[in-house]
Amino acid sequence: MKRLLIFSVAIAGLLSLSFVPSGKRILKDVLPEPQTTQNVIILIIDGPRMTETFSDPSGQFIPHLKNDLKPQGVLFTNFKNNGVTTTNSGHAAITTGTYQRIKNDGTELPKYPSIFQYYLKESKKSKDKAWIVASKGKLNVLSNAQKKGWANCFMPSDYCGPQGNGADYAGDITTWVKVMDVLNNEQPNLMLINLLEVDTQAHGGSWEKYLQAIRNTDDYAFKLWNYLQTNEHYMGNTTLIITNDHGRHLDGRRTGYKEHGDGCAGCRDIYMLALGPDFYQDKVITEEYEQLDISVLVADLLKFDMPTSKGRKIEGLFRKE
Ligand SMILES: [Zn+2]
Ligand SMILES: [Zn+2]
Repeated sequence: MKRLLIFSVAIAGLLSLSFVPSGKRILKDVLPEPQTTQNVIILIIDGPRMTETFSDPSGQFIPHLKNDLKPQGVLFTNFKNNGVTTTNSGHAAITTGTYQRIKNDGTELPKYPSIFQYYLKESKKSKDKAWIVASKGKLNVLSNAQKKGWANCFMPSDYCGPQGNGADYAGDITTWVKVMDVLNNEQPNLMLINLLEVDTQAHGGSWEKYLQAIRNTDDYAFKLWNYLQTNEHYMGNTTLIITNDHGRHLDGRRTGYKEHGDGCAGCRDIYMLALGPDFYQDKVITEEYEQLDISVLVADLLKFDMPTSKGRKIEGLFRKE
């Protein structure tokens, strides 16, 4: 309500400004367009190194991200996981806006509430309007929080792992069927998707399979964006954020690309590509931002407050500010 009031006052001010007869400006040029985003989808591609994605000048393993999606959005090339560089901690940093070392086996909930819980509480929407669909079963911890007053409250829908039972890992092909099912039938306003193949192939120790997994997830990202641009419910009003939970060790560091989890530059360096009707297009931001800042961005887009987030507002992303 407070935001609405401020917005109305701002509009009134601009309206009066636009009727000053001396200027040639027309109303259309002066009025800020109201924010258009109604839906936010976060695609987390699990664990590629920047050296095989956007730090590779050829972009050979991410043709769609580099050539099709980057020109339509804002790419952050100095984006960091500044916390624990494991799957559950990395994802929880994105969803809660706080860094916390949580167990990586799915037995420990994040301490603080997530974007999903804040969104469902504020919007009073039913739980089918916020979804987590993950290839890794252990990521069902993202739907809940330890904090008093939030534990078991305002939890989103989730489908994590095979059968969606929060156990084991499912291939991304299976996950994708569920992603499409949820988008088509539930039409969530807020959704997080985790694809695991890059991470699991790298842990498996095959360089070729790791690279192929990066190509495969590049395809999924492109498919998702195209779906959002053509689906009647999502077209023109949906923001897509594509990012990673962590990178991997640099060459020469421990086991190199096969593992991750420490503070080396390879593990910390990730990307974020933000696409949507409210953002600039074909822009690169080289200033450092980090995973925590995604929660602030989502809260801004979907209009809720997130007092427990330690993220900061990203500058230079919105076209109208
Ligand atoms: Zn891993
Ligand atoms: Zn490392």
